[in-house]
Amino acid sequence: MKKKLAIIGAGIAGLTLANFIKKYSDHEFMVYEREESLSLEEGYGIQLGTNAVKILNQINFNKINNEKIFHPKIIDFYNIQNEKICDLNLSKFNSTEAKYSTLQRSTLIEFLKEDIYTQHLRFGKKIKEVSEIKDKVLIKFDDNTNDLVDFVVAADGIFSSTRSFFEKKKIEPKFKKAVAVRVILSLKSNFNINEENISLMLGSRSHIVLYPINKKKELNMVCIMRCKKYEPDNIKQLIQEIILKQNSKLKNIFDKEMKTWPLYFSPKIVPSTNKKVFYIGDAFNGFLPTLAQGAGQSIESAFEIFNLLKNDKLDKDNDYFEVRAKRAKIIRSRSNFNFFAFHFSNSIMQKIRNIFLKFLVKRKFFVKSYLGKVYKN
Ligand SMILES: Cc1cc2nc3c(=O)[nH]c(=O)nc-3n(C[C@H](O)[C@H](O)[C@H](O)COP(=O)(O)OP(=O)(O)OC[C@H]3O[C@@H](n4cnc5c(N)ncnc54)[C@H](O)[C@@H]3O)c2cc1C
Repeated sequence: MKKKLAIIGAGIAGLTLANFIKKYSDHEFMVYEREESLSLEEGYGIQLGTNAVKILNQINFNKINNEKIFHPKIIDFYNIQNEKICDLNLSKFNSTEAKYSTLQRSTLIEFLKEDIYTQHLRFGKKIKEVSEIKDKVLIKFDDNTNDLVDFVVAADGIFSSTRSFFEKKKIEPKFKKAVAVRVILSLKSNFNINEENISLMLGSRSHIVLYPINKKKELNMVCIMRCKKYEPDNIKQLIQEIILKQNSKLKNIFDKEMKTWPLYFSPKIVPSTNKKVFYIGDAFNGFLPTLAQGAGQSIESAFEIFNLLKNDKLDKDNDYFEVRAKRAKIIRSRSNFNFFAFHFSNSIMQKIRNIFLKFLVKRKFFVKSYLGKVYKN
């Protein structure tokens, strides 16, 4: 039977779900976005594992302009002094249909908005009140419009305010005591790296990730540093104290325009208490970026909801939460472990870690179980 859905939030999760419903079903839906437009700001690279690419290809992601995407084959591990530790072949998880991909977030959002922009996306929408009427949910927005729907899918990010309308228990995301700095490097960087690969530099209380985001080989650089408090005005000082003290040659990459943000994670995976309400993407669980799976999990969760809808199982007893929570725990434990192991400050611990790393990246069994489970190979 035809259903009506309200999708709250036009990020990667909400837009992916919208695309699947539009392409493969007759169900009615509307995406409600709080902002007045989509954030299409240039920059901000994103890595998509084959688990996400496989799903996106079903909505023609493989037809995306080839110039705007890159397929790195290898992760090179370095210490922060830019001395190589080892490398990992990522391409072994690729198939002919799905390759590990890197691109700008704006390129992905542009692609996802294309088919739904005019008819199925409303901006400036903030929920004011929700109520249940018989089998339906009535959503009232603060511009005095409303929508009566069969299901609400909250895709409004890690600080999901939709949760607060439906759940009594509040679970606040936690600050990981770390900050992310991002720079786009358009000229050939002066690192000694292979710019076709993903480069991961491990430092004390910090790490740096660099990867190409298009065929022009512009590089996305994200630097994660531990700090007690997020103080946007003191970032330069933090970079000096944590990064440049370890390698002063990195100075000129931080002279560029930088964007910074604090790292948050969801401390608990909590089910929906309302059978008409589902959480996807970061609203379900926000991960640390150290496995580069936030967007991938947003895409997976959207696809799971779509499959339940398509098979008419969304309003029956379904196992969405159990399946998603199991998957999220696998991703979470690996992201957390990476965060821990990337940042050793003790030089003996760093040496031991590097020996393990060298050994493990060449062990088929380990790589298959650590990453294969994530990329579903
Ligand atoms: C440093 C860093 C690097 C990262 N790198 C990667 C990477 O390489 N690969 C990867 O897969 N992931 C990465 N991620 C994570 C990834 O970006 C997120 O997990 C993903 O974007 C989450 O998508 P989402 O749609 O769930 O939420 P969001 O992208 O947060 O979108 C939520 C949307 O909902 C809207 N909204 C919010 N509140 C409301 C409301 N009340 N009503 C209506 N609309 C609302 C917002 O405006 C926004 O448009 C990274 C994250 C960080 C911090």
